[in-house]
Amino acid sequence: MRLFSEKYRLLTWLSILLIAGFLTTIMASYIVSRDAIRQNVVEQALPLTSDNIYSEIQKDILRPAFISSLMASDTFVRDWIIAGETDPEQISRYLKEVKEKYNTITSFLVSENTKRYYYADGLLKTVSKDEPRDTWFYRVREMKADYETNVDNDMANRDTMTIFINYRIFDYDGKFIGATGVGLTLDTMTEILDSYQKRFHRNIYFIDAHGEIKIAGKSMRNIHGPITKLPGVSSIAKDILNRDVRPTQLEYQHDGATILMSSRFIPELDWYLLVEQDITDDVRPIERVFFINIIVSAIVTLLILALTLFAVNRYQRRLELIAGTDTLTGLLNRQAFEIVFQQAILDSERRRIPLSAILFDIDFFKMVNDNHGHLAGDRILQSIAIITKNALRESDIVTRWGGEEFLVLLKDCPLEKASALAEKIRCVIAGHDFELPASELNLTASLGVAEYAYRETWLSFFGRADKALYQAKSEGRNRVVVSSPEVTATTQ
Ligand code: GH3
Ligand code: MG
Ligand code: MG
Repeated sequence: MRLFSEKYRLLTWLSILLIAGFLTTIMASYIVSRDAIRQNVVEQALPLTSDNIYSEIQKDILRPAFISSLMASDTFVRDWIIAGETDPEQISRYLKEVKEKYNTITSFLVSENTKRYYYADGLLKTVSKDEPRDTWFYRVREMKADYETNVDNDMANRDTMTIFINYRIFDYDGKFIGATGVGLTLDTMTEILDSYQKRFHRNIYFIDAHGEIKIAGKSMRNIHGPITKLPGVSSIAKDILNRDVRPTQLEYQHDGATILMSSRFIPELDWYLLVEQDITDDVRPIERVFFINIIVSAIVTLLILALTLFAVNRYQRRLELIAGTDTLTGLLNRQAFEIVFQQAILDSERRRIPLSAILFDIDFFKMVNDNHGHLAGDRILQSIAIITKNALRESDIVTRWGGEEFLVLLKDCPLEKASALAEKIRCVIAGHDFELPASELNLTASLGVAEYAYRETWLSFFGRADKALYQAKSEGRNRVVVSSPEVTATTQ
């Protein structure tokens, strides 16, 4: 029972160690690979895309900014205003030339003096402080910088979203006399976003300072409205709107997918550029490897457990065999014999069949050891085991009881037959040539025989055989003494 539970305790601990070991390495490698992918996307792919788009935008804005700057310092423009804006034809022709030559969506000029708004087709309107659409002019009028970039609806173009570059115009004394510049359509930017989206499989979009989505590539999932209402993105909306011009790396979950996002504030537009990438597909192969590893480890664990169980069982069987066998003679030893002995008594009682025992001890064996050495003694004990077994039936059990004492159990054997067998053993030993020097007497044994008496304890049964042996010794050795409940007979 103890062996049994110890075996399973060993297997349990082995399983725990193997599973813990495997799981730790599998989890560690999974996390490391996942982080490597994530890091690559976060540190390389997303910022690169974001940088590319940003520089594209700058390119698209820089050229018009340059044109606007030329317009603001153009002596014709300044002279025309200073001269009192007498011929509107002249300035609208100029604005038309600029618009067509540089392929901008609009070109404009607003005079500080008359507040008139001119464009390519002539006079559009007069700006007013109270008109919300004209606030830009009053802002430009007061601002410190020479120019600004402003995204607004263009009244001259059916209110399409336009990026305006507003430049301040000064007279020759440095006095503010108006604002001029060009406007470009957002279509260009949408195209850029689209091409990037297709090329890199990334969602790219612009949101304004309040989180409202302004431009998104056409191939992107259908999104609109404020990001605070966008599933998934809403969870990181606060972190996006941080007005940080350096890219901020964020992450959110949507529909079971992990999405990484790079967000950056673009002051020229007062917008945020968001580039996001779904890394679920990138992580999938790692997940597959993860599951394969789990399966392989489970198989290896099971194999190791099976092998261990097999080995332990084998050793257990061998130990049991060794524990029950006398190593010198190969006979059953005393421990094993006690079980067999009790079993035989039960059997005899149940089936009412006779059971006898012969206990014998080699005479003067000490002398053999003393004269020829212990090894020679051992060899003789081995020979005695063999010749005793040979003198008996297969079903008779011969045991090395201890030292040079042997016990033979004879099943289904009455006393007379047992004593005859004892006599046979005595003769066989006495007649055997143990290859001892001729000067010495032959080796002999003294034997005690007893038959099991019904309801007798095995101690009493054994005790009677032992007593008979003792008597054989005391009566001169090399003889058989038979014990019976009533009489004790002696033969020689
Ligand atoms: P007797 O039985 O006739 O009275 O004399 P004895 O010399 O045989 O006396 P006893 O039974 O007391 O001594 C047994 C001796 O057997 C003592 C011990 O050295 C020897 N002996 C016991 N076991 C072994 C063994 O495994 N190998 C060898 N070589 N000798 C053994
Ligand atoms: Mg002895
Ligand atoms: Mg002896």
